[in-house]
Amino acid sequence: MKIKTLIAIEDAVAKVREWKKDQKRIALVPTMGALHEGHLALVQSAKSAADIVIVTIFVNPTQFGPTEDFAKYPRTLKDDMQMLEALNVDYVFTPNANDLYSGDFQTWVYNDMMANQLCGLTRNSHFKGVCTVVLKLFNIFRPDIAFFGKKDYQQLSVLKAMVQDLNVDMEIQGINTIRHPDGLAMSSRNRYLSDVDRKLALQISKGLNAVQETFNKGEKNIKILSERFFGCIGEHSQVQIEYCEFRKQNRLTEFQEVINAPAVLLVAVRVSNVRLIDNIELGTYEFI
Ligand code: AMP
Repeated sequence: MKIKTLIAIEDAVAKVREWKKDQKRIALVPTMGALHEGHLALVQSAKSAADIVIVTIFVNPTQFGPTEDFAKYPRTLKDDMQMLEALNVDYVFTPNANDLYSGDFQTWVYNDMMANQLCGLTRNSHFKGVCTVVLKLFNIFRPDIAFFGKKDYQQLSVLKAMVQDLNVDMEIQGINTIRHPDGLAMSSRNRYLSDVDRKLALQISKGLNAVQETFNKGEKNIKILSERFFGCIGEHSQVQIEYCEFRKQNRLTEFQEVINAPAVLLVAVRVSNVRLIDNIELGTYEFI
């Protein structure tokens, strides 16, 4: 079946009414485009979970700060469509920003706790933009299930909390991070890394793996585990660790000194001007 593009919100809403009448199970995969294998893994999982799969491609202006890369965020719609077509995706939703955010738009969704930490410290209203656009997409498509990557672990946690806290009747599924063969987590922003920077960036996944190995051998002390990560990153003028934080998987709450519950190590590292995030789970995945 050929992929179909939906642009107008009212067309999407009309389609959803038809699907609901026919009792179709609907899966949603929200993205900002510039698709790579990480996104495609989400799509594959969606395909095996529902009758209708909709991929949304929208570079959401409200989740970018004034000094961030909204204008130069990669936009590769033609290639994206080809990739989705090859996976037999049913529908792609590519809305216009002016339709999603009309001139008198004034209602926002924000998380009061998690969103003000980790990435939220440097990306001020980022999660407010994410929550708002994702809830809008949920309201338009009323999916039974939506797929998000663990690559953006904080985003996944914030959205899980949103759905629980606001009683949105649907499931959110997290999908493991897809990596390049050398370990670097796939990201639309990797294309901005020079060859030298890419080599330095590789230390991020190496550091995460080293911490996991140490943890699995029985070390639970956060200070010692953090030093393991810092040691792997080393000292380079163009590399700065923005944060390196051990959190409980459930709602990303803090530990005292020792890891005593299923955990995740979340890091943000700047390599030259490219901000990379990554994470690794420590202990079984008991994400609630
Ligand atoms: P983005 O287009 O960057 O907003 O990402 C859209 C979705 O793809 C989000 O749920 C991301 O977490 C997910 N994603 C991005 N990169 C990866 C990856 N390397 N592995 C798995 N999921 C990913």
